[in-house]
Amino acid sequence: MKIVTRFAPSPTGFLHIGGARTALFNWLFARHHSGTFRLRIEDTDRQRSSNDAIAAIIEGLEWLGLNWDAETVYQFARAERHAEVARQLLEMGRAYHCYASPEELETMRETQRAAGTPIRYDGRWRDRPASDHRPNVPPVIRIKAPRAGDTIISDKVQGDVRFSNDVLDDFILLRSDGTPTYMLSVVVDDQDMGVTHVIRGDDHLTNAARQRQIIDAMGWPVPVYAHLPLMHGEDGQKLSKRHGALGIHEYKSLGYLPEAMRNYLLRLGWSHGDDETISTPQAIEWFNLESIGRSPSRVDFKKLGNLNGHYIRQASDQDLANSTLPLLKAFDPKEFPNLQVQLVAAMPGLKERAKTLVELADGAQFLVAKRPLALDDKAQKIMTAEARTHLKNLIPALQQVKWVPEAVEAAVRGFVDISGLKLGVVAQPLRVALTGRSTSPGIFEVLQVLGKEESLARIADQVVI
Ligand code: GLU
Repeated sequence: MKIVTRFAPSPTGFLHIGGARTALFNWLFARHHSGTFRLRIEDTDRQRSSNDAIAAIIEGLEWLGLNWDAETVYQFARAERHAEVARQLLEMGRAYHCYASPEELETMRETQRAAGTPIRYDGRWRDRPASDHRPNVPPVIRIKAPRAGDTIISDKVQGDVRFSNDVLDDFILLRSDGTPTYMLSVVVDDQDMGVTHVIRGDDHLTNAARQRQIIDAMGWPVPVYAHLPLMHGEDGQKLSKRHGALGIHEYKSLGYLPEAMRNYLLRLGWSHGDDETISTPQAIEWFNLESIGRSPSRVDFKKLGNLNGHYIRQASDQDLANSTLPLLKAFDPKEFPNLQVQLVAAMPGLKERAKTLVELADGAQFLVAKRPLALDDKAQKIMTAEARTHLKNLIPALQQVKWVPEAVEAAVRGFVDISGLKLGVVAQPLRVALTGRSTSPGIFEVLQVLGKEESLARIADQVVI
């Protein structure tokens, strides 16, 4: 059997972390089985859907590298097909016209409320003959759902979930204005797209029981279901805005790498022994529905940071330089014609320290710092009068040297030895003079990356003559 999964977001906002995880699991499952992963935009709620949201979702998926197969399906465009299925169910006697007015239904609900019984459509038009039909009232079409027995959803995550049919009422398939309901559209689209596995949030579990009524009435194949548990914030509460960074675009701008994000999202609800670092190829090889956890997963920014640091250290210096360059602040590219080369050269030292691209850019900022460099608070404390004197004395040694790594290092070490100082006593002020900071990549790397002229100029700026 060819596996077909789908991600079916409603475009009412950005791609959030929960949606991204759903998309990832569908993608991994399809890729693991060499199947098909489809994207369906569920834009039937015309009031709440927007093109901006569609663009944000697509951008988010593309950034995450979750490529989908075949064309994107837009649900609203298929409304006529959905209506056709409602009419088919009507003809088959599996659905019926209901002429109840909104007022009538409200009275029905009030009575139920007063009696303390569950609020649901009572089936008042279910068995009425066609001769009762009200000629001037446009009816809705309702499913004729079974009243006795149970509907069981065999879920790969939740196990067998039993719904008593007497709690599932005859819900609407087609509204009186001829528009299909969400419940109908989802089922028809899944069928027409050949979806074999429905992997989505467990807020859709009850919907599955209703959708099953339509599937059974049509005699369509039942997909395999996997309803994913919710996500919780770090405090164990249901994930919400106050937990911050919910949109995938936010992670992008915070400087996380898509491969780290995929690893992190995978671990929010899926496990493989004790493995934390799982590359995407490895995830494709290992992914299965059986290892999805049943309890809510907790977001953990520390874990994300560690994973991101790992993937940064793995990435090529060239790629990192390309991603870091646009993040450098306030400089004139004309003044730094060699910046790309310098960034690549600085990358081995920079990437050891950074957990995000933003931190990487921050660490690289010294490359484009304007002379004389502004020193941050910690740096200023290091730059004592004594420190400046050491730098002043170091200048001649550096002026003479040929600017290759071994020679520069030998010159600094030689100066330190002759002066009877500790390396740190000279290296720290040197770092401050070259970068304006108290931390940076290794000092000899910094000297090399900046080059002789710029290094000496920055040192001279700090020396009181
Ligand atoms: N459109 C629904 C949502 O965004 C998902 C429907 C489904 O996966 O069946 O939550």
